[in-house]
Amino acid sequence: MLRKGVVLSISILLILCSSLFAALEINTQKVGDNIVVFMVDYKGGSTIAINTDKGIVVVDSNMSYETAGNIRNKIEKMFPGKKIAYLINTHSHFDHNMGNQVYTDVPIIAHENVIEEIVETFKDIDTMKDRLAKSIVRLEEAIKKNEDSPDDIKIYKRMKNEWEQGVKDMNADFKLVYPNLLFNDKIKMDMGNITLELEYYPSAHTNSDIIIYIPQEKALLTGDLFLSYQYAVLVNPQGKSFPVEKWLDMLDDYLNNKEVKYVITSHGSINDIDFLKLRRKYISDIWEDVKKAYSEGAELKAVEESHTVAKKYQYIKETGFADDYLEFVHKGIIDKFWFELERRKTEK
Ligand SMILES: [Zn+2]
Repeated sequence: MLRKGVVLSISILLILCSSLFAALEINTQKVGDNIVVFMVDYKGGSTIAINTDKGIVVVDSNMSYETAGNIRNKIEKMFPGKKIAYLINTHSHFDHNMGNQVYTDVPIIAHENVIEEIVETFKDIDTMKDRLAKSIVRLEEAIKKNEDSPDDIKIYKRMKNEWEQGVKDMNADFKLVYPNLLFNDKIKMDMGNITLELEYYPSAHTNSDIIIYIPQEKALLTGDLFLSYQYAVLVNPQGKSFPVEKWLDMLDDYLNNKEVKYVITSHGSINDIDFLKLRRKYISDIWEDVKKAYSEGAELKAVEESHTVAKKYQYIKETGFADDYLEFVHKGIIDKFWFELERRKTEK
């Protein structure tokens, strides 16, 4: 089990939205007829390749240009004679774009807010390296502390490997490469056999998240918005608001009006539609509960204590990560929703 100190250290990774748990081994999994997911070992930042008549569309480029280069080689071997047509970054977090430099020969697509957020992330690379180095030290401590828990140790070691690779890259030939084909709401890409529908999911995990729907494959790529080990990941520090109602409407559109067989996240999980239904319910339930408590004049601390996953949202519990970590992430969502209600009240 994770202990408190570890939760604190993990929180730093979460805030940065780390590609948790990666090591450098690359595994592939085919989804449908034309999608291949390249996973960096366990749950590290995935890269997704979509085989279209007009070339391969690649989604996300990992936090290491070295790993990104290895993945690109694999893609080119897997689809001989096919060019890479586009790279898409699902959002601004560095574990999805630090490999962009191996794709400078193709257009890189993203939401327009991505630029501002990448500039902010990389404005002080020394601070960033320092944060990564500190996280690595904390992981080493966690490895020592959890000697009796081999599963946790395995995860920490993988995380440590990936963070070390990230620091190594930053000290070597890392070059920041920005997306250069930007959109602001939604776009449809006609790739012959495949259509890609890209849609902005406003102000949630970052302020630049997009969802990608591929009707021919009944596949939905959700970036970091929903992860198998964190339910919903709301860390947007720059968002002025949390448009929860808009999120729910968008999810309803995918759940009710579109055929979805595969929900593919950016960190190593390929899921069925129930995965998304459950997360829609979870967001909606917390939102309604927090609104009710807020309107009744409750105190935030009391709401946090009475609305834990263990007490109120057991239905979303899955194995695969320690309870106190999940409660920590869950409490973050309650807080964000609470502050959103306060913000709306002041705005009135
Ligand atoms: Zn992220």
